Amino acid sequence: MKPVRLRLVGGAVHDPANGVDGEIRDVCIEDGRIVASLPDGAPTLDARGMVVMPGGVDIHSHFASSSCNHARRLIPDEHAADPAPAPALAEDELPARSGTGGTVPSTFTTGYRYAGLGYTTAFDAAVAPLTARHSHSELDDTPCVDGGIYVLMGNDEYLLRQIEAGEQDRARDYAAWLLRSTGGYAIKIVNPGGVEAWKSGQRNVTGLDDAIGGRKVTPRAVLETLAGAANALQLPHPVHIHCNNLGIPGNAGTTLGSMQALSGRRAHFTHLQFHCYGGQPGQGWTSAAAQVIEYVNSHAEVSTDVGQVMFGPAMTITADAPVEYLLHKSSGRRWTNIDIELETGCGIVPLAYKDKAAVASLQWAIGLELFLLSADPWRVVLSTDHPNGGSFLSYPALIQLLMDRAVRDERLMQVNPKLLAGSALADGLAREYTLNEIAIITRAGPARLLGLGRKGHLGPGADADVTIYNREADIAKMFSTPRYVIKDGRVIVEEGQLRRAPAGRRLRVAPEYDDALLPDLRRHFDAYSSVSFANYPVQDLPGETVPAG
Ligand SMILES: [Zn+2]
Repeated sequence: MKPVRLRLVGGAVHDPANGVDGEIRDVCIEDGRIVASLPDGAPTLDARGMVVMPGGVDIHSHFASSSCNHARRLIPDEHAADPAPAPALAEDELPARSGTGGTVPSTFTTGYRYAGLGYTTAFDAAVAPLTARHSHSELDDTPCVDGGIYVLMGNDEYLLRQIEAGEQDRARDYAAWLLRSTGGYAIKIVNPGGVEAWKSGQRNVTGLDDAIGGRKVTPRAVLETLAGAANALQLPHPVHIHCNNLGIPGNAGTTLGSMQALSGRRAHFTHLQFHCYGGQPGQGWTSAAAQVIEYVNSHAEVSTDVGQVMFGPAMTITADAPVEYLLHKSSGRRWTNIDIELETGCGIVPLAYKDKAAVASLQWAIGLELFLLSADPWRVVLSTDHPNGGSFLSYPALIQLLMDRAVRDERLMQVNPKLLAGSALADGLAREYTLNEIAIITRAGPARLLGLGRKGHLGPGADADVTIYNREADIAKMFSTPRYVIKDGRVIVEEGQLRRAPAGRRLRVAPEYDDALLPDLRRHFDAYSSVSFANYPVQDLPGETVPAG
């Protein structure tokens, strides 16, 4: 067959992974991959005057899970307010699908909207093993993005039993078996032990050395076991941690304690903003962003995504069930809680962040402090914890806040200043991100942290996922409407319009484990599980596995 070629001509290329910072050069594509050169006469796309970057990579999002489906059910009013008509795709394409928008769009609409922003890869950050089938079905219906799932293990009954029994090797093998069985990409920990404690009648755990639900297991032991497992299994992405005490005043101490507990070991701490509060429980919040980011800056083994709060509607979706119960009680908003058998929990509460609210204003400021005080953009990457801190559609506005101090300072004047005393942002932060730094925190950095060698860059061999922006003074406008988006070498957004919507690929891992695990695990399933052992693993998993890091 004739190779499919395309030369992107004359754009200013931002490809930080390959040391290219705005150089005018061509990008050559053949059969879905970037190549070093093409013969004369290959088809061209004129990118002169435009900005060329790799496709965006979302390291932490909630868009393809049973939890998202529960969230969709909770907000019929949002669907009515944001109908999403089918896009006008090119004639040779499969039929386009209509859907609904809001904070948790329907599956096809999610894929279309990610593509419309120039994002071509995304990971769902919280999937209970038992519901992995559901996530794979949703990913099948989420076009335009390659994606995968992080598998929840921090409150898992079988794992807690192994830790309590001192069976570290078996715990590691179980983590590997779970990743394989679910088609997962990474190990996720949410509020280690806290969900299990809540389900067994306690309020939560409060510290790293609390006993979990009357067992001889602590959050610290869960962190150490699963971080050790991820590293021993050489997973492409290290353990992905949502710390204990999310949202609680003074939780920065727990966050720093968790980082210190894993000192010297690779670990990713997610939506850090929600874990950077000073103050005391019951006495209110202050910013502790400076202390936490200082630790991150000086410890190369730590990476993080920010979890920026953006003003406007949001949907909190988390396996951290006790947090959602408290949020429901304090906000009076709708709430749903789903117990996922012996594996984890899930809570959902719709929310709006208002700039007249003191706590939301502090959260907004803390996220920006983390970005602006970060010394290494490769390890402090962009997220809003979509849709927890705000929709992924707010990324362009966030990028503008990072790149344009005037816009940021003007916004700062409008927020509630009550809790901002002592915050670095209120004291004035002059830093403005460059286009290259934006390319790092939205594509090159996340791809590197995920161990995705073919994503986030434009060197030969990379997947030909490319986003081309018009250069505009209004940064938010520039990033919200890419002129062209290319996925696997095909132009899917043309002149700002989605024209093609190919299926995305699945990204998953398949680590090895010792079969000696299986007899004991089968006994556990026979005794306690609602799903038989043989039926538990997801069959016919699509996509390719990503080799060990
Ligand atoms: Zn999350």
